[in-house]
Formats: sequence, structure tokens, C-alpha cells
Amino acid sequence: MKVTEHIKKANGNTLFSFEILPPLKGQHIQSVFDNLDPLMEFKPPFIDVTYHREEYTYKEQENGLLKKQVVKKRPGTVGICAAIQNKYQVDAVPHILCGGFTKEDTENFLIDLDFLGINNVVALRGDAVKSETYFKAEKEGHKYASDLVNQIQDLNNGLYLDDALLNSSKTDFCIGVAGYPEKHMEAPSLDSDIHFLKKKIKKGADYIVTQMFFDNQKYFDFVEKCREEGITVPIIPGLKPLSTKNQLNLIPHRFKVDLPDELIKEVVSCNDNKAVRQVGIEWCISQSKELIQKGIPVLHYYSMGKSSNIKEIIKKVF
Ligand code: FAD
Repeated sequence: MKVTEHIKKANGNTLFSFEILPPLKGQHIQSVFDNLDPLMEFKPPFIDVTYHREEYTYKEQENGLLKKQVVKKRPGTVGICAAIQNKYQVDAVPHILCGGFTKEDTENFLIDLDFLGINNVVALRGDAVKSETYFKAEKEGHKYASDLVNQIQDLNNGLYLDDALLNSSKTDFCIGVAGYPEKHMEAPSLDSDIHFLKKKIKKGADYIVTQMFFDNQKYFDFVEKCREEGITVPIIPGLKPLSTKNQLNLIPHRFKVDLPDELIKEVVSCNDNKAVRQVGIEWCISQSKELIQKGIPVLHYYSMGKSSNIKEIIKKVF
């Protein structure tokens, strides 16, 4: 079932979903199941699986020269999605990127999903590869997520890249896109970012999932601004419980989001990461409860591959 259909079917009740990462190459898929199993009793209607693009590494050769290697450290997004749908009968939502994909790669990726019965995707641009400062699209790829949304919608209308194909079958993807309550790091302003967010919706995106935030007011203000701009699709808040002290610096650096002073003080006063984890859980519970009170459609948790703190939150919230 599509994410938007799950929301309609919930009839105003808040749903719970979460995002997982594929395991590092070399790990068994059981490591994914071990993290999912404890959350299944809460019946998530859908689970997102992130996509991780290639990275460049340099390996020293016998002659002392460095050889550039292209590696994908977390492959397996499509396989994990198929396994989730098969094992748990829960809808899986693979993320798909512009980065590292030509339009042809994108089309073939979508055909695989369609054949596997996966009809939800989150369409994203992706970040720059780790060794580069700015995002670079493939020569035959997309520069912005809105162009990727356009291609997915084309496929939903039976329009393939090869327009000589006759009687081509239509896909039926429900498309999510990213939104940033504190603006995307490269956007010159929030207004400009929302302008381009609206473009993604115009091209056919069905809903928005937000970047993590730790102050609900930022989300409420963002939703208000989006509505003023005429964006009417569901805006699903993304929440992440803090679990280590060094995230105080890592999260603002990596995701360009602010942490409220009160949360910072609480974390700083913790003696160890066990205490930080508890602070993170309590903070996330209180964020979740307020969001539910305001009638938001889905609470979406960034699990980062660890389900135990998410389970503690869900138990208290739902
Ligand atoms: P876009 O919507 O293309 O926007 C990128 C920037 O360009 C923004 O600043 C926007 O304002 C600007 N812009 C957009 N269109 C135009 C235009 N036509 N002209 C000029 N400027 C424009 N990354 C991964 O690698 N894998 C994942 O699985 C993943 N999942 C994510 C899930 C969520 C919910 C979120 C919020 C992010 C996720 N990301 C993931 C990170 C995401 O790929 C990065 O934040 C990326 O830098 C931007 O992606 P986007 O889809 O928002 O890009």
C-alpha cells in the first residue's frame, strides 16, 4: 500500500514509522532483522531504507603509488526492501538518489522495484561524495531531486526514456521528498528552499519527510510557511533521539540543525552515554507527544540501525 493510502486509512490517527540503514558490506541480513524484530509488535505501516552512494578510497600499491577505488560501503537497499516486504508484510520505502545514477540507471532501478511489488520511494538528490565539496550530477543524471521526481512520474505515466517503446506498462509509485524545517545547508534562505520544495510537489511528489529537528516550533513554523506557499501534501516530521555526547557537535555539523540550549545543558550534565541516551529518549518522547497532540499524520524516527531506544519511545508514546 502507498504511504499516502496508509495516512488516509489511519483516519486522523498518528502512525509510527522509522528509517533504517543497510548494514555495512560483509554483514549478514540477520543484523537488519535483529533490529527490526523488536519494533514489529508496534505494527509500523511502512519502513524506509536509506540509499548510500559510492565513496572513493585510495589503496597503496606495491610501487608506493595510490590507486583510487570506488566502493559502496552499504549496498543492498533494494534487497533489504524486498526482504522486509517478504518477511514482515510491511511496506518498504527505498530511498533513491540522483547522485551516482544516470537516468538509465534510475529507470532500471525503478523497474526492479516495480517488479518486486515495491511502490513507494523517497526521491532525493543525495550529498556530494565524501572526498568532494559540492554535489556533482552524473553526466546523464539529474541535478536536483525535482528532476528525479519528474522521471518517476513519467514512468507512472508509462513514459520510458526510449520513446520508441510501444504499449509500455505504467508504474504506480507514491513519491516522498525531503523537506528542511531549518533549511537545506546549501539553500540561501528558507524561502528559497521552500520555493524548490514546491517544485518537487508540482512535479508529482505525494508527501514530504523532514530532516530531523529537536525543537518542535521549527517544524510548526515550517509547516505553516509551506501551507502559505500552497503546499498541501502531508509533511511527516523526522525525529532522532540523541544517544551520545559527541552528537552535540556531530549533528549540527552533519545535518546543519540547531540543538535547543535546554537539551544541550541536559546532555552536558550527563556523566556517561548511558545517561545521554536516557535524556535523548525523554526529549524525543516529549517531542512526539506534542506532535501527536497537534494531529500530525506520522511520526518518523531515524533509527540509524539501532532499535532499542526507538522501542522505549514508542512504548511510551503510542
Ligand atoms: P534537492 O531537493 O534537489 O535540493 C538540494 C538543494 O538545491 C537545496 O538547497 C534546494 O533549495 C536547491 N535546489 C533545488 N532545486 C533547485 C533548482 N532548480 N535550482 C537551484 N537550486 C535548487 N541522503 C542519502 O545519500 N541517502 C538517503 O537515503 C537519504 N535520505 C534522506 C532522507 C530525508 C528525509 C532527508 C531529509 C535527507 C536524506 N538524505 C539522504 C540527504 C539528502 O540527500 C541531502 O540532504 C541532499 O543534500 C539534498 O537532497 P534533496 O533531495 O533535499 O535535494
